[in-house]
Amino acid sequence: MSQLRLNPLTGRWVTIATDRTTRPDDFNRDRLKVETGPDRPCPFCPGNEEETPPALESYGDGGEWQIRIVPNRFPAFSGSEPMTVRNLGPVFNQAPASGSHEVFVFSRQHDIEWSDLDDDKAGLVMACLRDRFEEHGRSRSVRYTQAIVNHGREAGASLLHPHGQLLGMPFVPGEIAEEEAGFRRFAGSCVLCTTAEAERDSDSRVVHDADGVLVICPYWSGTPYEMLVIPDQHQGHLARSAPDVLAAVGRAIKASLARLKDNVGDVSYNIVIHTLPHHHEDEFHWHVHVLPRVQSVGGFEQGTGVPINIVAPEQAAATLVGG
Ligand SMILES: [Zn+2]
Ligand SMILES: [Zn+2]
Ligand SMILES: [Zn+2]
Repeated sequence: MSQLRLNPLTGRWVTIATDRTTRPDDFNRDRLKVETGPDRPCPFCPGNEEETPPALESYGDGGEWQIRIVPNRFPAFSGSEPMTVRNLGPVFNQAPASGSHEVFVFSRQHDIEWSDLDDDKAGLVMACLRDRFEEHGRSRSVRYTQAIVNHGREAGASLLHPHGQLLGMPFVPGEIAEEEAGFRRFAGSCVLCTTAEAERDSDSRVVHDADGVLVICPYWSGTPYEMLVIPDQHQGHLARSAPDVLAAVGRAIKASLARLKDNVGDVSYNIVIHTLPHHHEDEFHWHVHVLPRVQSVGGFEQGTGVPINIVAPEQAAATLVGG
């Protein structure tokens, strides 16, 4: 029997189709490779720094960068024009796509990923994201910053070299507005503090629990092996988190991705960080979604927004911890 489960963050139902037992082998476990063409050198490799616009920031010592933040060559959002909506017809409304679009290159090494970083480096990546969030918060044209890592072609990556993106947007996107509404519905308590407590009690979907960071396959998982990273410290803004919390989140992401690779396969994934819009003071608890892309999205999901997950999160967690 399938089952509906409510995602309290978004207020939307997901379908867990538990009829059949799905093993990791049932999925395509080798991500499609992304490679730079032979004629074009990788723009993110050391020595090719001229291939990108000048760095906005770089981290590292001894004259060698360890993390580099560069403007995206083809930005989705750019400029500082205020978001003024113009009506060009009864149903034609437009506004300038102001904001910023940056790439963070988080290793000098071309063919590694987040799970290969050492613990200090995984923490440094989060510290550098914190700085960028703070910087974006000072810009008048950026209301919300979305940090993502796309790994593998199924996840939308176009370059192999380990990198992520920061998109500073002039409006609050629907997904965040929905999650903020989820926190409001749970007024009186925090939905993610409550989730962390309930998941620790139940102990059937925990993937990782160390240094004040919990990783679970959420009860309401909409996709196979989906993971949610929740820092124990209740804080709406990532930029206001303590350095040790950020470092522990970086390590938790690394550990979760390593479990994914070891127990499911070398699959594509997206890492999505959700934090409060810059000037909101609403109830929220920042967190990270790790979304393996082992299955493509079909017409039903596209048409209804109702996911059908064929791996129950209890089974996903058991597989991820090596069960
Ligand atoms: Zn490279
Ligand atoms: Zn909380
Ligand atoms: Zn979220």
